[in-house]
Amino acid sequence: MWNPFKYGPNLKLVRLQVKLSWPFITYGKKLSAVPILKWIIYPFFKRPHNELTSIPIHVNIESPESVALPQRLVERLIAQVDEVFLMDECHCAGVKNRMSPRLNTGCLAFGPSTSRIHPSHGRLVDTAEAVRHVQKAAAEGLVANIAHVWIDALAFQLTQFNRLLFMCFCDDDQCLYRSFMKSRGPSLDKTYKKLPGLSVQVDPSNCEMCVTCVNYCFVSAIEIQGDAAVIGADCTGCGLCVGHCPEGAISLTMENEEEMFQQLLDRVREISNLPLRVDQSLSQKLP
Ligand code: SF4
Ligand code: SF4
Ligand code: SF4
Repeated sequence: MWNPFKYGPNLKLVRLQVKLSWPFITYGKKLSAVPILKWIIYPFFKRPHNELTSIPIHVNIESPESVALPQRLVERLIAQVDEVFLMDECHCAGVKNRMSPRLNTGCLAFGPSTSRIHPSHGRLVDTAEAVRHVQKAAAEGLVANIAHVWIDALAFQLTQFNRLLFMCFCDDDQCLYRSFMKSRGPSLDKTYKKLPGLSVQVDPSNCEMCVTCVNYCFVSAIEIQGDAAVIGADCTGCGLCVGHCPEGAISLTMENEEEMFQQLLDRVREISNLPLRVDQSLSQKLP
């Protein structure tokens, strides 16, 4: 028997909500380009209650410190959090395509609010199990997204939104966050923030102007200029174009691991009050 005072909605109810909200999100993104309507829609998608940071865990970036730097950043972030809830199912795939091979690669939810997530969604896991989940998602070619998004708190009816963060593992087929972003209005341009210290570039000497990347990019951040593809300011750093370029002309680079990690923690602090172990141990040391 569901006790609404103890838990938010169960799996079936959340699936229903995702199904019902799909047209609103789709048309909300499309209509956000229409005069007047865009001012009504914009507050739902603006910071600080709607922000995503992509981390391209599926791309191996070799550095002196680590052979899989983006994945390492995510693993280190997980080690900073006491409560990690692993969802058994990706809710987007659960609604859009239950045959999808990524159906069982669900989101991770972080923070004290996760105690209200109904047990039918999954369970609390320790750092080691959460890290294994990230490695599985990376092997499936999914991009990690750190999400501080009001719709997640609403769907699961989690209080303390500021002390909640989701980490989703997304592709371009099912994801409610990533889909329809090509038809967004300019007010949604800042929904995704690129991870500080990460850059994506095209080597013009290898580009054959095949436009594969142009078609793939979910935010239309790439265009052909002159005789090569050029990546523009709207690039989210998701890295999904890298593997699709048949010429291997697109690459990702990152600053050194420690700087990147500190910037990632700052980003988390900026968008939420998620209790981080590093901050807790610092405050215990203060007189
Ligand atoms: S946001 Fe990503 S991981 Fe989360 S439910 Fe949607 S596609 Fe799945
Ligand atoms: S996919 Fe590669 S080769 Fe094709 S346009 Fe993009 S960068 Fe150039
Ligand atoms: S240009 Fe590539 S890395 Fe940037 S948002 Fe588009 S697909 Fe992602």
